[in-house]
Amino acid sequence: TWANVPQGPPDAILGITEAFKADTASHKINLGVGAYRDNEGKPFVLNTVREAEKRVVGKKLDKEYAPITGLANFYTAAAELAYGSNSAPIKENRLAVSQTISGTGALRVGAEFLAKFLPSKKILLPTPSWANHKAVFSAAGLEVGQYRYYDKSTISLDFDGLKADLEQAAPGTAVLLHACAHNPTGVDPTKEQWQAIFNVVKERQLFPLFDMAYQGFASGDCDRDAYAVRYFVDNGLPVALNQSFAKNMGLYGERIGAFSIVCESPEEKARVDSQLKIIVRPLYSNPPIHGARIAAEILNDAQLKQQWLGEVKSMADRMIEMRSLLREKLENLGSKKDWSHVTSQIGMFCYTGLSPEQVDRLASEFSVYGTRDGRISICGINASNVDHLAKAIFAVSG
Ligand code: PMP
Repeated sequence: TWANVPQGPPDAILGITEAFKADTASHKINLGVGAYRDNEGKPFVLNTVREAEKRVVGKKLDKEYAPITGLANFYTAAAELAYGSNSAPIKENRLAVSQTISGTGALRVGAEFLAKFLPSKKILLPTPSWANHKAVFSAAGLEVGQYRYYDKSTISLDFDGLKADLEQAAPGTAVLLHACAHNPTGVDPTKEQWQAIFNVVKERQLFPLFDMAYQGFASGDCDRDAYAVRYFVDNGLPVALNQSFAKNMGLYGERIGAFSIVCESPEEKARVDSQLKIIVRPLYSNPPIHGARIAAEILNDAQLKQQWLGEVKSMADRMIEMRSLLREKLENLGSKKDWSHVTSQIGMFCYTGLSPEQVDRLASEFSVYGTRDGRISICGINASNVDHLAKAIFAVSG
C-alpha cells in the first residue's frame, strides 16, 4: 500500500545521539543534547518539581479532561511569569492565553492562528534559527522568509543586517523573535538593540511573535530574561508569545507550555480565545494535565516559587561557570584564538565558530559530539569532562 512512501531524512540531532551511543570511548562527550545535565552529566529533576508533584499526588485529584485551552490556574500564572504581574493586558483582561503542548505546541497553535488570520500569511525567521521553526510554520501553511541575525565573521549579532532586513519587510509580515538565549547561536541583542528592533517593528507595522523557551536560563533571572517581551508590550505593541516550561522547570517530557496574544480589548480577547479553541480542538482536543498541575503548584505558591527561581538560577549559573572554565582552559592551553564569545554568549548553547570539518574531527578523534554548525550544548559540560573538551577543541582549531 505504501510503496510510494519515500524514506525521509533522519533528524540531525537524533543522529548525533545515535553516534554518541555507539562510541565505546569512556571519555566520550555528548554536546548535541538540548536538555540540562547536572555536574555529573545526569538528567536533573528540580527539587521544587519533586515537591510540587508530591503535593499534586497527595490531593488525589481526578483525571478528567482539561478544558480545550487547559488549566486556568496554570496559564494565568504562566502569563504573569512572562509579562509580569502588573502587566496592563493581564490586569485589563485583554490577554488571550491557552495552555499548550510545550513550546512546540505553542508555536504550532500560534502558526495556525497566523495562517488563518494574518492577511500576509508570511513570517520571517532569524538566520539561523531553531531548525523546527521553519518546519512548524511551513506545516501550518505560512510562507517562511528570513532576516539576517548572526555574523559568522564576528561570531556575534549582525545587527545592521537584522535592522536592514526588517526595514525592508512588507507591513503586516510576522517576525519571529527569540525572547532570550537565542537557539542555536547563544547571541542575544542588548537592551538598546531590543529598543531599536522595537522601533523598526513598530514603524514597519510588523507583527512580533516571541518564542521564549528559555526564560530564566539565560541570565538566571526570569524578570531580566523577559525584558524584550515586556518592553514591546509595555510600549504598546500587541505581541504573541510562546512559552515552554521544558527547560526552566525541567519538565521536558511533561509537554507544558503556553501561547498568548495581547489584544486591544476584552471583547477582542474573547473573539481570539474562541478561535484558539477552534484551532486546538481538531489538533489534540485538550492538553495533558499532570505537568500543568505541577507548574501551577510551583507558580501559585509564593514560597515554592521563590525556591524554584533559585533552582533556575543555579542551573543558569552552572552553565555560566562551564563557559568560563572552557574559555580559561582553552586560553591556558595556549590557544591564540579569541574565545570571548564562549563567555559572552548566553543560555544553553554556544556557537563555537568551528567548521563542519572541525566538528567531524572532534567526533572521530576525540569522541566529542556536537552539531556540524559548530553548536555545542553547554549543559553537556561538567567539571570532569571540561579538560578533555578543551584539549579536543584546541587540537582541531589550531
Ligand atoms: N523554541 C526554541 C527556540 C527551542 O529551542 C525549543 C526547544 N529546543 C522549543 C521552542 C520547544 O521546545 P519544547 O517543545 O520542548 O518546549
